[in-house]
Amino acid sequence: MIDVGVIQNGAGPAPPSSRKAPTLWGPTALIVCGHTIGEYAFIGAGAVVTKDVPEHALMVGNPAKQIGWMCICGEKIDEHLKCKTCHHEFEKTNNGLILTAKLHLDTES
Ligand SMILES: [Zn+2]
Repeated sequence: MIDVGVIQNGAGPAPPSSRKAPTLWGPTALIVCGHTIGEYAFIGAGAVVTKDVPEHALMVGNPAKQIGWMCICGEKIDEHLKCKTCHHEFEKTNNGLILTAKLHLDTES
């Protein structure tokens, strides 16, 4: 299990305009200014993001590289783009993954 932090698009403060003061998102991940982090993307501890991150991407390293996809529940998505934990299914797009099938967690009596 990789120690990761959650970054959701728009959840953080506006990045500073100075290039010498990159925004620090979460405890350890570093996002170089001017890059977009897609919704539900996960940035590994110590990762340095130097390019745009697609939605649901799991990024680690310096510079950050994508090693997989993450579900909205916080679990890693398998190679068939399905989550074994919550059974959501995803499809690849130009901007990352989109949800195609959703399990209803809230059962209505
Ligand atoms: Zn899930």
